[in-house]
Order: sequence, then C-alpha cells, then structure tokens
Amino acid sequence: MIYRLSFLLFFLLTAWAPAHSKESQKPLKIVASFSILGNIVKTVGGKEIEVFYIVQENEDPHIFRPTPETSLLLAKADGVFINGLGLEGWFSRLITASGYKGNVFIAAKGIEGERAPCDHPSATPILDPHAWHSLVHVQTYAQNIADDLSRIRPEKASYFEKNAQAFIDEVQKIYDWAQKEVSKIPKSQRKVVTGHDAFFYLGRDLGIEFVSPQGVTTEAEPSAKDVARVIQFVKKNNIKTVFVESLTSQRLIRELADEAGATVGAELYTDALSKKGGPAPTYPIMARHNLTHIFSAMSESAQLEASLQRRRFFS
Ligand SMILES: [Zn+2]
Repeated sequence: MIYRLSFLLFFLLTAWAPAHSKESQKPLKIVASFSILGNIVKTVGGKEIEVFYIVQENEDPHIFRPTPETSLLLAKADGVFINGLGLEGWFSRLITASGYKGNVFIAAKGIEGERAPCDHPSATPILDPHAWHSLVHVQTYAQNIADDLSRIRPEKASYFEKNAQAFIDEVQKIYDWAQKEVSKIPKSQRKVVTGHDAFFYLGRDLGIEFVSPQGVTTEAEPSAKDVARVIQFVKKNNIKTVFVESLTSQRLIRELADEAGATVGAELYTDALSKKGGPAPTYPIMARHNLTHIFSAMSESAQLEASLQRRRFFS
C-alpha cells in the first residue's frame, strides 16, 4: 500500500512539474501603443514576450482611431506599454471600451516633458510627446521597460536587464557618433526643416534647430502663416534640403521646397517604423537613418554658405 501511494505521489509530481514549468515559459503577450515603442519593448523582452502593436508600422499614432479589434487585442494582453506625455490621446477611451484591467506601463515615466515651443501662435501649447527621438531619453525608456517586464515575470529580471543594457550601449554609440558628426558643422548651420515638430528633444541634445510648418501633433493642418514662416527660414539660412516624413503629407513640404528654392530630401521616420525591409525597421536603424540624412543636409548647407562667403569676400 505504502509502495503504491509513494508511486502515485512520484507519478503526480513528475507529471505535474514539467507541465507547470512549460506553462511559465510561454511568452508573455505584450501590447505596445505604436511601432517604435513596440520595437524597443521587444528588444528588451526578447524571447520572453510576443509584442503586438496597436498603431502599426507606417501608421500615425497622433490621429489613430481604435476599432473593436483593438479592444480584442487588449483583452488577451499580459501588459500594455504606452509612451505617455500625451501622445496617445485615444488611449483612455480604448481602455474604457475594452474593459482591460491589467497593467498599463508608461515608457516615458520619469522624463520631464517639454511644452511645445511657442513659435506656432495658432496652436495651444501642449506637451511634446516625441521623447523617444532623444538618444538620452530613449535609454530611460529601455530601463523602464526592463523594470516593468520584471514586475510581470520577476524570475527573468536579469535577462530583461541584460537586454536593456545592450540596447542602451547601442544607442549610446549612436549618440557618441552623432555628437562627433554635429561638431563638424558650424553652429550657425545646424538648422533643419521637417514636416512636423518631432525632433525637439533630439535637437536640444545635439544643438540642432528643427523648424516645421506643423506643430507637435499632426492633427491640425498648418496655417498659411506657418508655411510662410518656414519658407523665410529656409531662404534666410541657405537651407538646400527640406525633409518629408513617412507619415505626414508630402505635398505641403514639396510646395514649400519649390517656393523656397530648396530640394526635397529623404523620408524621415518620426512616429512609426517602416515595415521589415524598409529603411527604418528597428529603433537603432531608424535613428541612424534619420541622423545620416540630417547631417548630410546640414553639411550641404554649410558648404553652400562657405562658398557664398568666399564669393562675397573676393567680389
Ligand atoms: Zn509626431
């Protein structure tokens, strides 16, 4: 009898244990509000998580409209990451509609958001949400994500920490390179025109002035006055290239370039990644893509300015 009982106990323990450990190994289902954030979350979570984006690659998180499918996505989530700083104005309605009661983590936690610069008199001042373009702030994102994933799966905390540190090291390398590149450009030529104000934090870190006809959100159309102001800026600073963005209307920037006598540069990725195989499928590749084009436009303007100065000197 005793033999039978211990055999039964042994059988139950061995049968139960593998099933249980297998269960805990299943990847967590994590939802991220938009693709750039989703890619950072996936980099930190690695094989321990599956990530689903609410706003897909090549879609604009400023003007997103949740659908019933978005609610279903949340219903299955083990955790949800949003940017914060007012980016996802649609998120609280989505939470109510979906009935989601789980964890909502804010990736920009601890980062002090800046009010949008007041050079758009038509716009009411709002927080600038684009902190992810700061190569300093995005390191805080990675650390926050590691800490938050560790709350859901504490036994993998050191794995998340290791992945976050690798991302931080990679981003720091890009930042070191960017600082070196920017130092080659005269301060007076560190001026760039883009579709909407997505690069304020990046510009603040690197000493680059970014100007655009549209404010920090893509919700409102720029006014004729805003467009005229940017045209003046391009002419005054001998800017040769103005940038279009992958998400915002390219028509406006093309007209603006025509009017100001500038050419249209590459597509910058501001609020969404490209699809796989595109020029910006991950955060580090996106950052290098944007910065490479920004630096080449600034040095082009700097060369033009230098040759104009030489001409003025010899005439
Ligand atoms: Zn934006």
